[in-house]
Amino acid sequence: MKKELIVATKNAKKLREIRQILKGLDFKVTSLAEYPDAPRIIENGTTFKQNAAKKALAIARYAKRLTLGEDSGLCVDALDGKPGIYSSRFAGKGKSDLKNNLKLLRLLSGVSPARRKARYVCAVALADEKGLLKVVEGRCSGLIGYEFKGRHGFGYDPLFIIPQYRKTFAQLGPAVKHRISHRFRALKKARLSLATYLRKNS
Ligand code: IMP
Repeated sequence: MKKELIVATKNAKKLREIRQILKGLDFKVTSLAEYPDAPRIIENGTTFKQNAAKKALAIARYAKRLTLGEDSGLCVDALDGKPGIYSSRFAGKGKSDLKNNLKLLRLLSGVSPARRKARYVCAVALADEKGLLKVVEGRCSGLIGYEFKGRHGFGYDPLFIIPQYRKTFAQLGPAVKHRISHRFRALKKARLSLATYLRKNS
């Protein structure tokens, strides 16, 4: 029987990306959808790594299974690194990707192309019931556009331009995104630990 790896998220789009990137590793990847009674995780860390570790530890202790915690977001230079760890709740109550993106465009209106640099950051933590095994981070640099472009991905992807391609992640789609994204880069660093865990626990 395959070993289980719980991804401590309720975000279906994030989960789909993690599943696609981890393809090839011999885990049965589940998520919080399979653990509806799991404790609510309060994301009160001050860094992506702290929040990722909190998610991984809380669920690993609850479910007594290997768990992957992921915390990610967008850091915009002209906004002093905001929205950062508050990316999903940038627009406040009644948050949605659209509202977050519109707020971002509003705050950057009048900001020149040269000052629209940003980066996505993704922290990944692995934990089992005994404690934290690994915490890593991946980054991906880009520019914030002036209008929505593309229909793939989620979150800020329709505004996040990869300079090398002159296209947004939402235009480029998963084939390119999963080769260069912050999430891919963080999971690449975590992959060896996952493979080692499989070897030792099978
Ligand atoms: P978390 O669920 O607290 O980690 O929040 C992640 C938020 O960061 C998402 O809701 C998006 O707003 C943003 N984000 C993180 N990764 C991506 C990505 O790959 N594309 C677009 N937005 C992202």
